[in-house]
Amino acid sequence: MKKEHIFTPVPKSSFNKIKCAECNEEQIVYSHNTIEVMCNSCGNVLAKTRGTKSRIHGKISESTQ
Ligand SMILES: [Zn+2]
Repeated sequence: MKKEHIFTPVPKSSFNKIKCAECNEEQIVYSHNTIEVMCNSCGNVLAKTRGTKSRIHGKISESTQ
């Protein structure tokens, strides 16, 4: 895979690729998202917002800073 530098305006933010524990479907979740993230295929909750940082329920397979 080609390595790319993604410019992010907020330095502390990151994107996590989370693998669903139920069906192994991967989804990109923003670390500072304000909504609940659910799996596209089975509806399992992958991340929940708690304060300013989201809580990850699935497995993080990749993280981009
Ligand atoms: Zn799923």
